Amino acid sequence: MSWEKKLRQREFTKEREQRYLIRRSELDESLEEVFDRQTLLTLYDMLNTGRLKRVMGVVSAGKESRVYHGLGGSGEELAVKIYLISSAEFRRNRLQYVVNDPRFKAIPRDFRKFVYLWSEREFSNLVEAYESGVPVPKPYTQSKNILVMEFLGENGVRYPLLQEEEFDVDELRSIYSQVVEALSKLYAGAGLVHGDLSQYNIMVGRGLKVYLIDLAQAVKTTHPMAEAYLRRGVETLGNFFRRAGLEIDVEKFLHGVRGGERDVGGA
Ligand code: ATP
Ligand code: MN
Repeated sequence: MSWEKKLRQREFTKEREQRYLIRRSELDESLEEVFDRQTLLTLYDMLNTGRLKRVMGVVSAGKESRVYHGLGGSGEELAVKIYLISSAEFRRNRLQYVVNDPRFKAIPRDFRKFVYLWSEREFSNLVEAYESGVPVPKPYTQSKNILVMEFLGENGVRYPLLQEEEFDVDELRSIYSQVVEALSKLYAGAGLVHGDLSQYNIMVGRGLKVYLIDLAQAVKTTHPMAEAYLRRGVETLGNFFRRAGLEIDVEKFLHGVRGGERDVGGA
């Protein structure tokens, strides 16, 4: 199936969901059910200052964050990622990423503040990546536990994750080489390693353009665990590409990310 056709199919499904949402006028209710008062205040604040004009439907509802489709001041599509304040495992699982980060010296004990720190981290990682030419959603603004960035998708329909579509070998080669290039820019340009790299945190847009998402876990290359995270991510993706039909050598993949020769998998 062509990429266009797949996108139309996704649009169709989305429309159905959206109609359902509007019929039940679920959005406001669900916002109030899901988020605490302070989070709603932060959201209303953003809506008042004009950076964010409207919050539309839910794009993704995870355990620790929700992503909404929104519209900006000039009608541009935005992704609004809101971290939930309530998740109990949040701090425990994330402590390893924020210790040893010179950019964030004090690690807050207060849970709410810890979540804010997490959102700030994702924002500053996105800024650093974006400024180094890494294909990530353009970061717009961040406040407390809310991050506003470019919407990767069209008409409220997000692009598929790498995991979600079937690609033929030529398409996979193109995707693979873009991933290597993106990761090497992230590494050498931004000095960052994506701490949670997998086929679930890569989106594939129009013309098979690759985007890295979910950068909250990214760490500086000087972080004591940076090399381990890098290897783990490259192994995860290497396995994915291998299962999908490319011949991948993890050491070459790593070498490519660290700025060596580009390895075009399966060639
Ligand atoms: P989860 O636990 O649900 O995976 P997460 O913390 O991993 O959440 P992300 O991976 O950043 O958060 O985002 C969750 C989902 O929201 C993504 O898988 C993707 O479908 C969608 N999403 C994230 N960022 C964007 C964006 N900029 N544009 C469009 N969709 C996005
Ligand atoms: Mn994710």
